[in-house]
Amino acid sequence: MIVPAAALWYNILRMTAIKVDNVYYAYETNEGEESRFAVNGVSLEIEEGSFVAVAGHNGSGKSTLARLFNGLLLPDKGSVTVFGTDTKDEKNIYKVRSSVGMVFQNPDNQMVASVVEDDIAFGPENLGLPREEIIRRVDKALEQVGMSEYRKSTPFRMSGGQKQRLAIAGVLAIRPKVLVLDESTAMLDPKGRREVMDVIHALNKQENMTVVHITHYMEEVLEADRVIVMDEGKIALDDAPRAVFARGEELKKYKLAPPAVTLIAHALARHGADIPCGITGEEELEEAICRSLSKI
Ligand code: ADP
Ligand code: MG
Repeated sequence: MIVPAAALWYNILRMTAIKVDNVYYAYETNEGEESRFAVNGVSLEIEEGSFVAVAGHNGSGKSTLARLFNGLLLPDKGSVTVFGTDTKDEKNIYKVRSSVGMVFQNPDNQMVASVVEDDIAFGPENLGLPREEIIRRVDKALEQVGMSEYRKSTPFRMSGGQKQRLAIAGVLAIRPKVLVLDESTAMLDPKGRREVMDVIHALNKQENMTVVHITHYMEEVLEADRVIVMDEGKIALDDAPRAVFARGEELKKYKLAPPAVTLIAHALARHGADIPCGITGEEELEEAICRSLSKI
């Protein structure tokens, strides 16, 4: 009976990192303009240690949702809690902001100093931490993103992937429990995107960091445990990536293009091949085609 009891305890102890409860948010509008909810009745829970992708077309509310996660925006209606603390609770706003670190799209806008170590030290310095602690945090953060050797370098001439890894290190130095990346791979070349993805997966797997990754790259969505698809301020789909991609035609409505292998699988199935929906890997497709052919 040891195993089931352990599993039970694991489930009880597993925490909700972020809880969004029936949240509405509308930006201020100019006089005469109709106001509409950028986030329109969203409820969700993000479990500690999970890796969640958020997808959806431009203007669907992804960035607004991300800003609600760490109290940069406060809900008009409903509530957001971060490890049990309501983001509306003014005396805990610092705690909330430091628990949920945000990385944005343009790495150049996130850099404040001309030497890497000063840039990473900026966050902990603002926390008023002692010098030794700041040094410890800078060391650790650079190690976490694989940039230790660049400590004394200047970030300005680095590649996009390296700059974005530094932006992540700057956030890590504040020691957040959740990392929210708002299209942080959008401006990078494939190599830079891979570097950032490898860093955030390692943080998730090795350090149990909760990751929320907003992206329009479907290959990146595939690497998540779960994908939330936003549409007009609402959650349109919330499922495992494979289950979402298995929906085929419906995805067009949300302007999501499934990976090429998934589209090929769907096309073969439409033409009568016995191939399951939701195939996402090349090898998997090959096996399914072989199985299907052997039945003919
Ligand atoms: P996404 O990140 O999915 O592209 P956003 O959350 O940025 O979507 O935007 C959701 C809606 O809110 C859009 O209609 C957008 O025009 C509007 N919006 C976003 N930011 C602002 C802002 N600062 N002021 C007014 N409206 C905004
Ligand atoms: Mg956005």
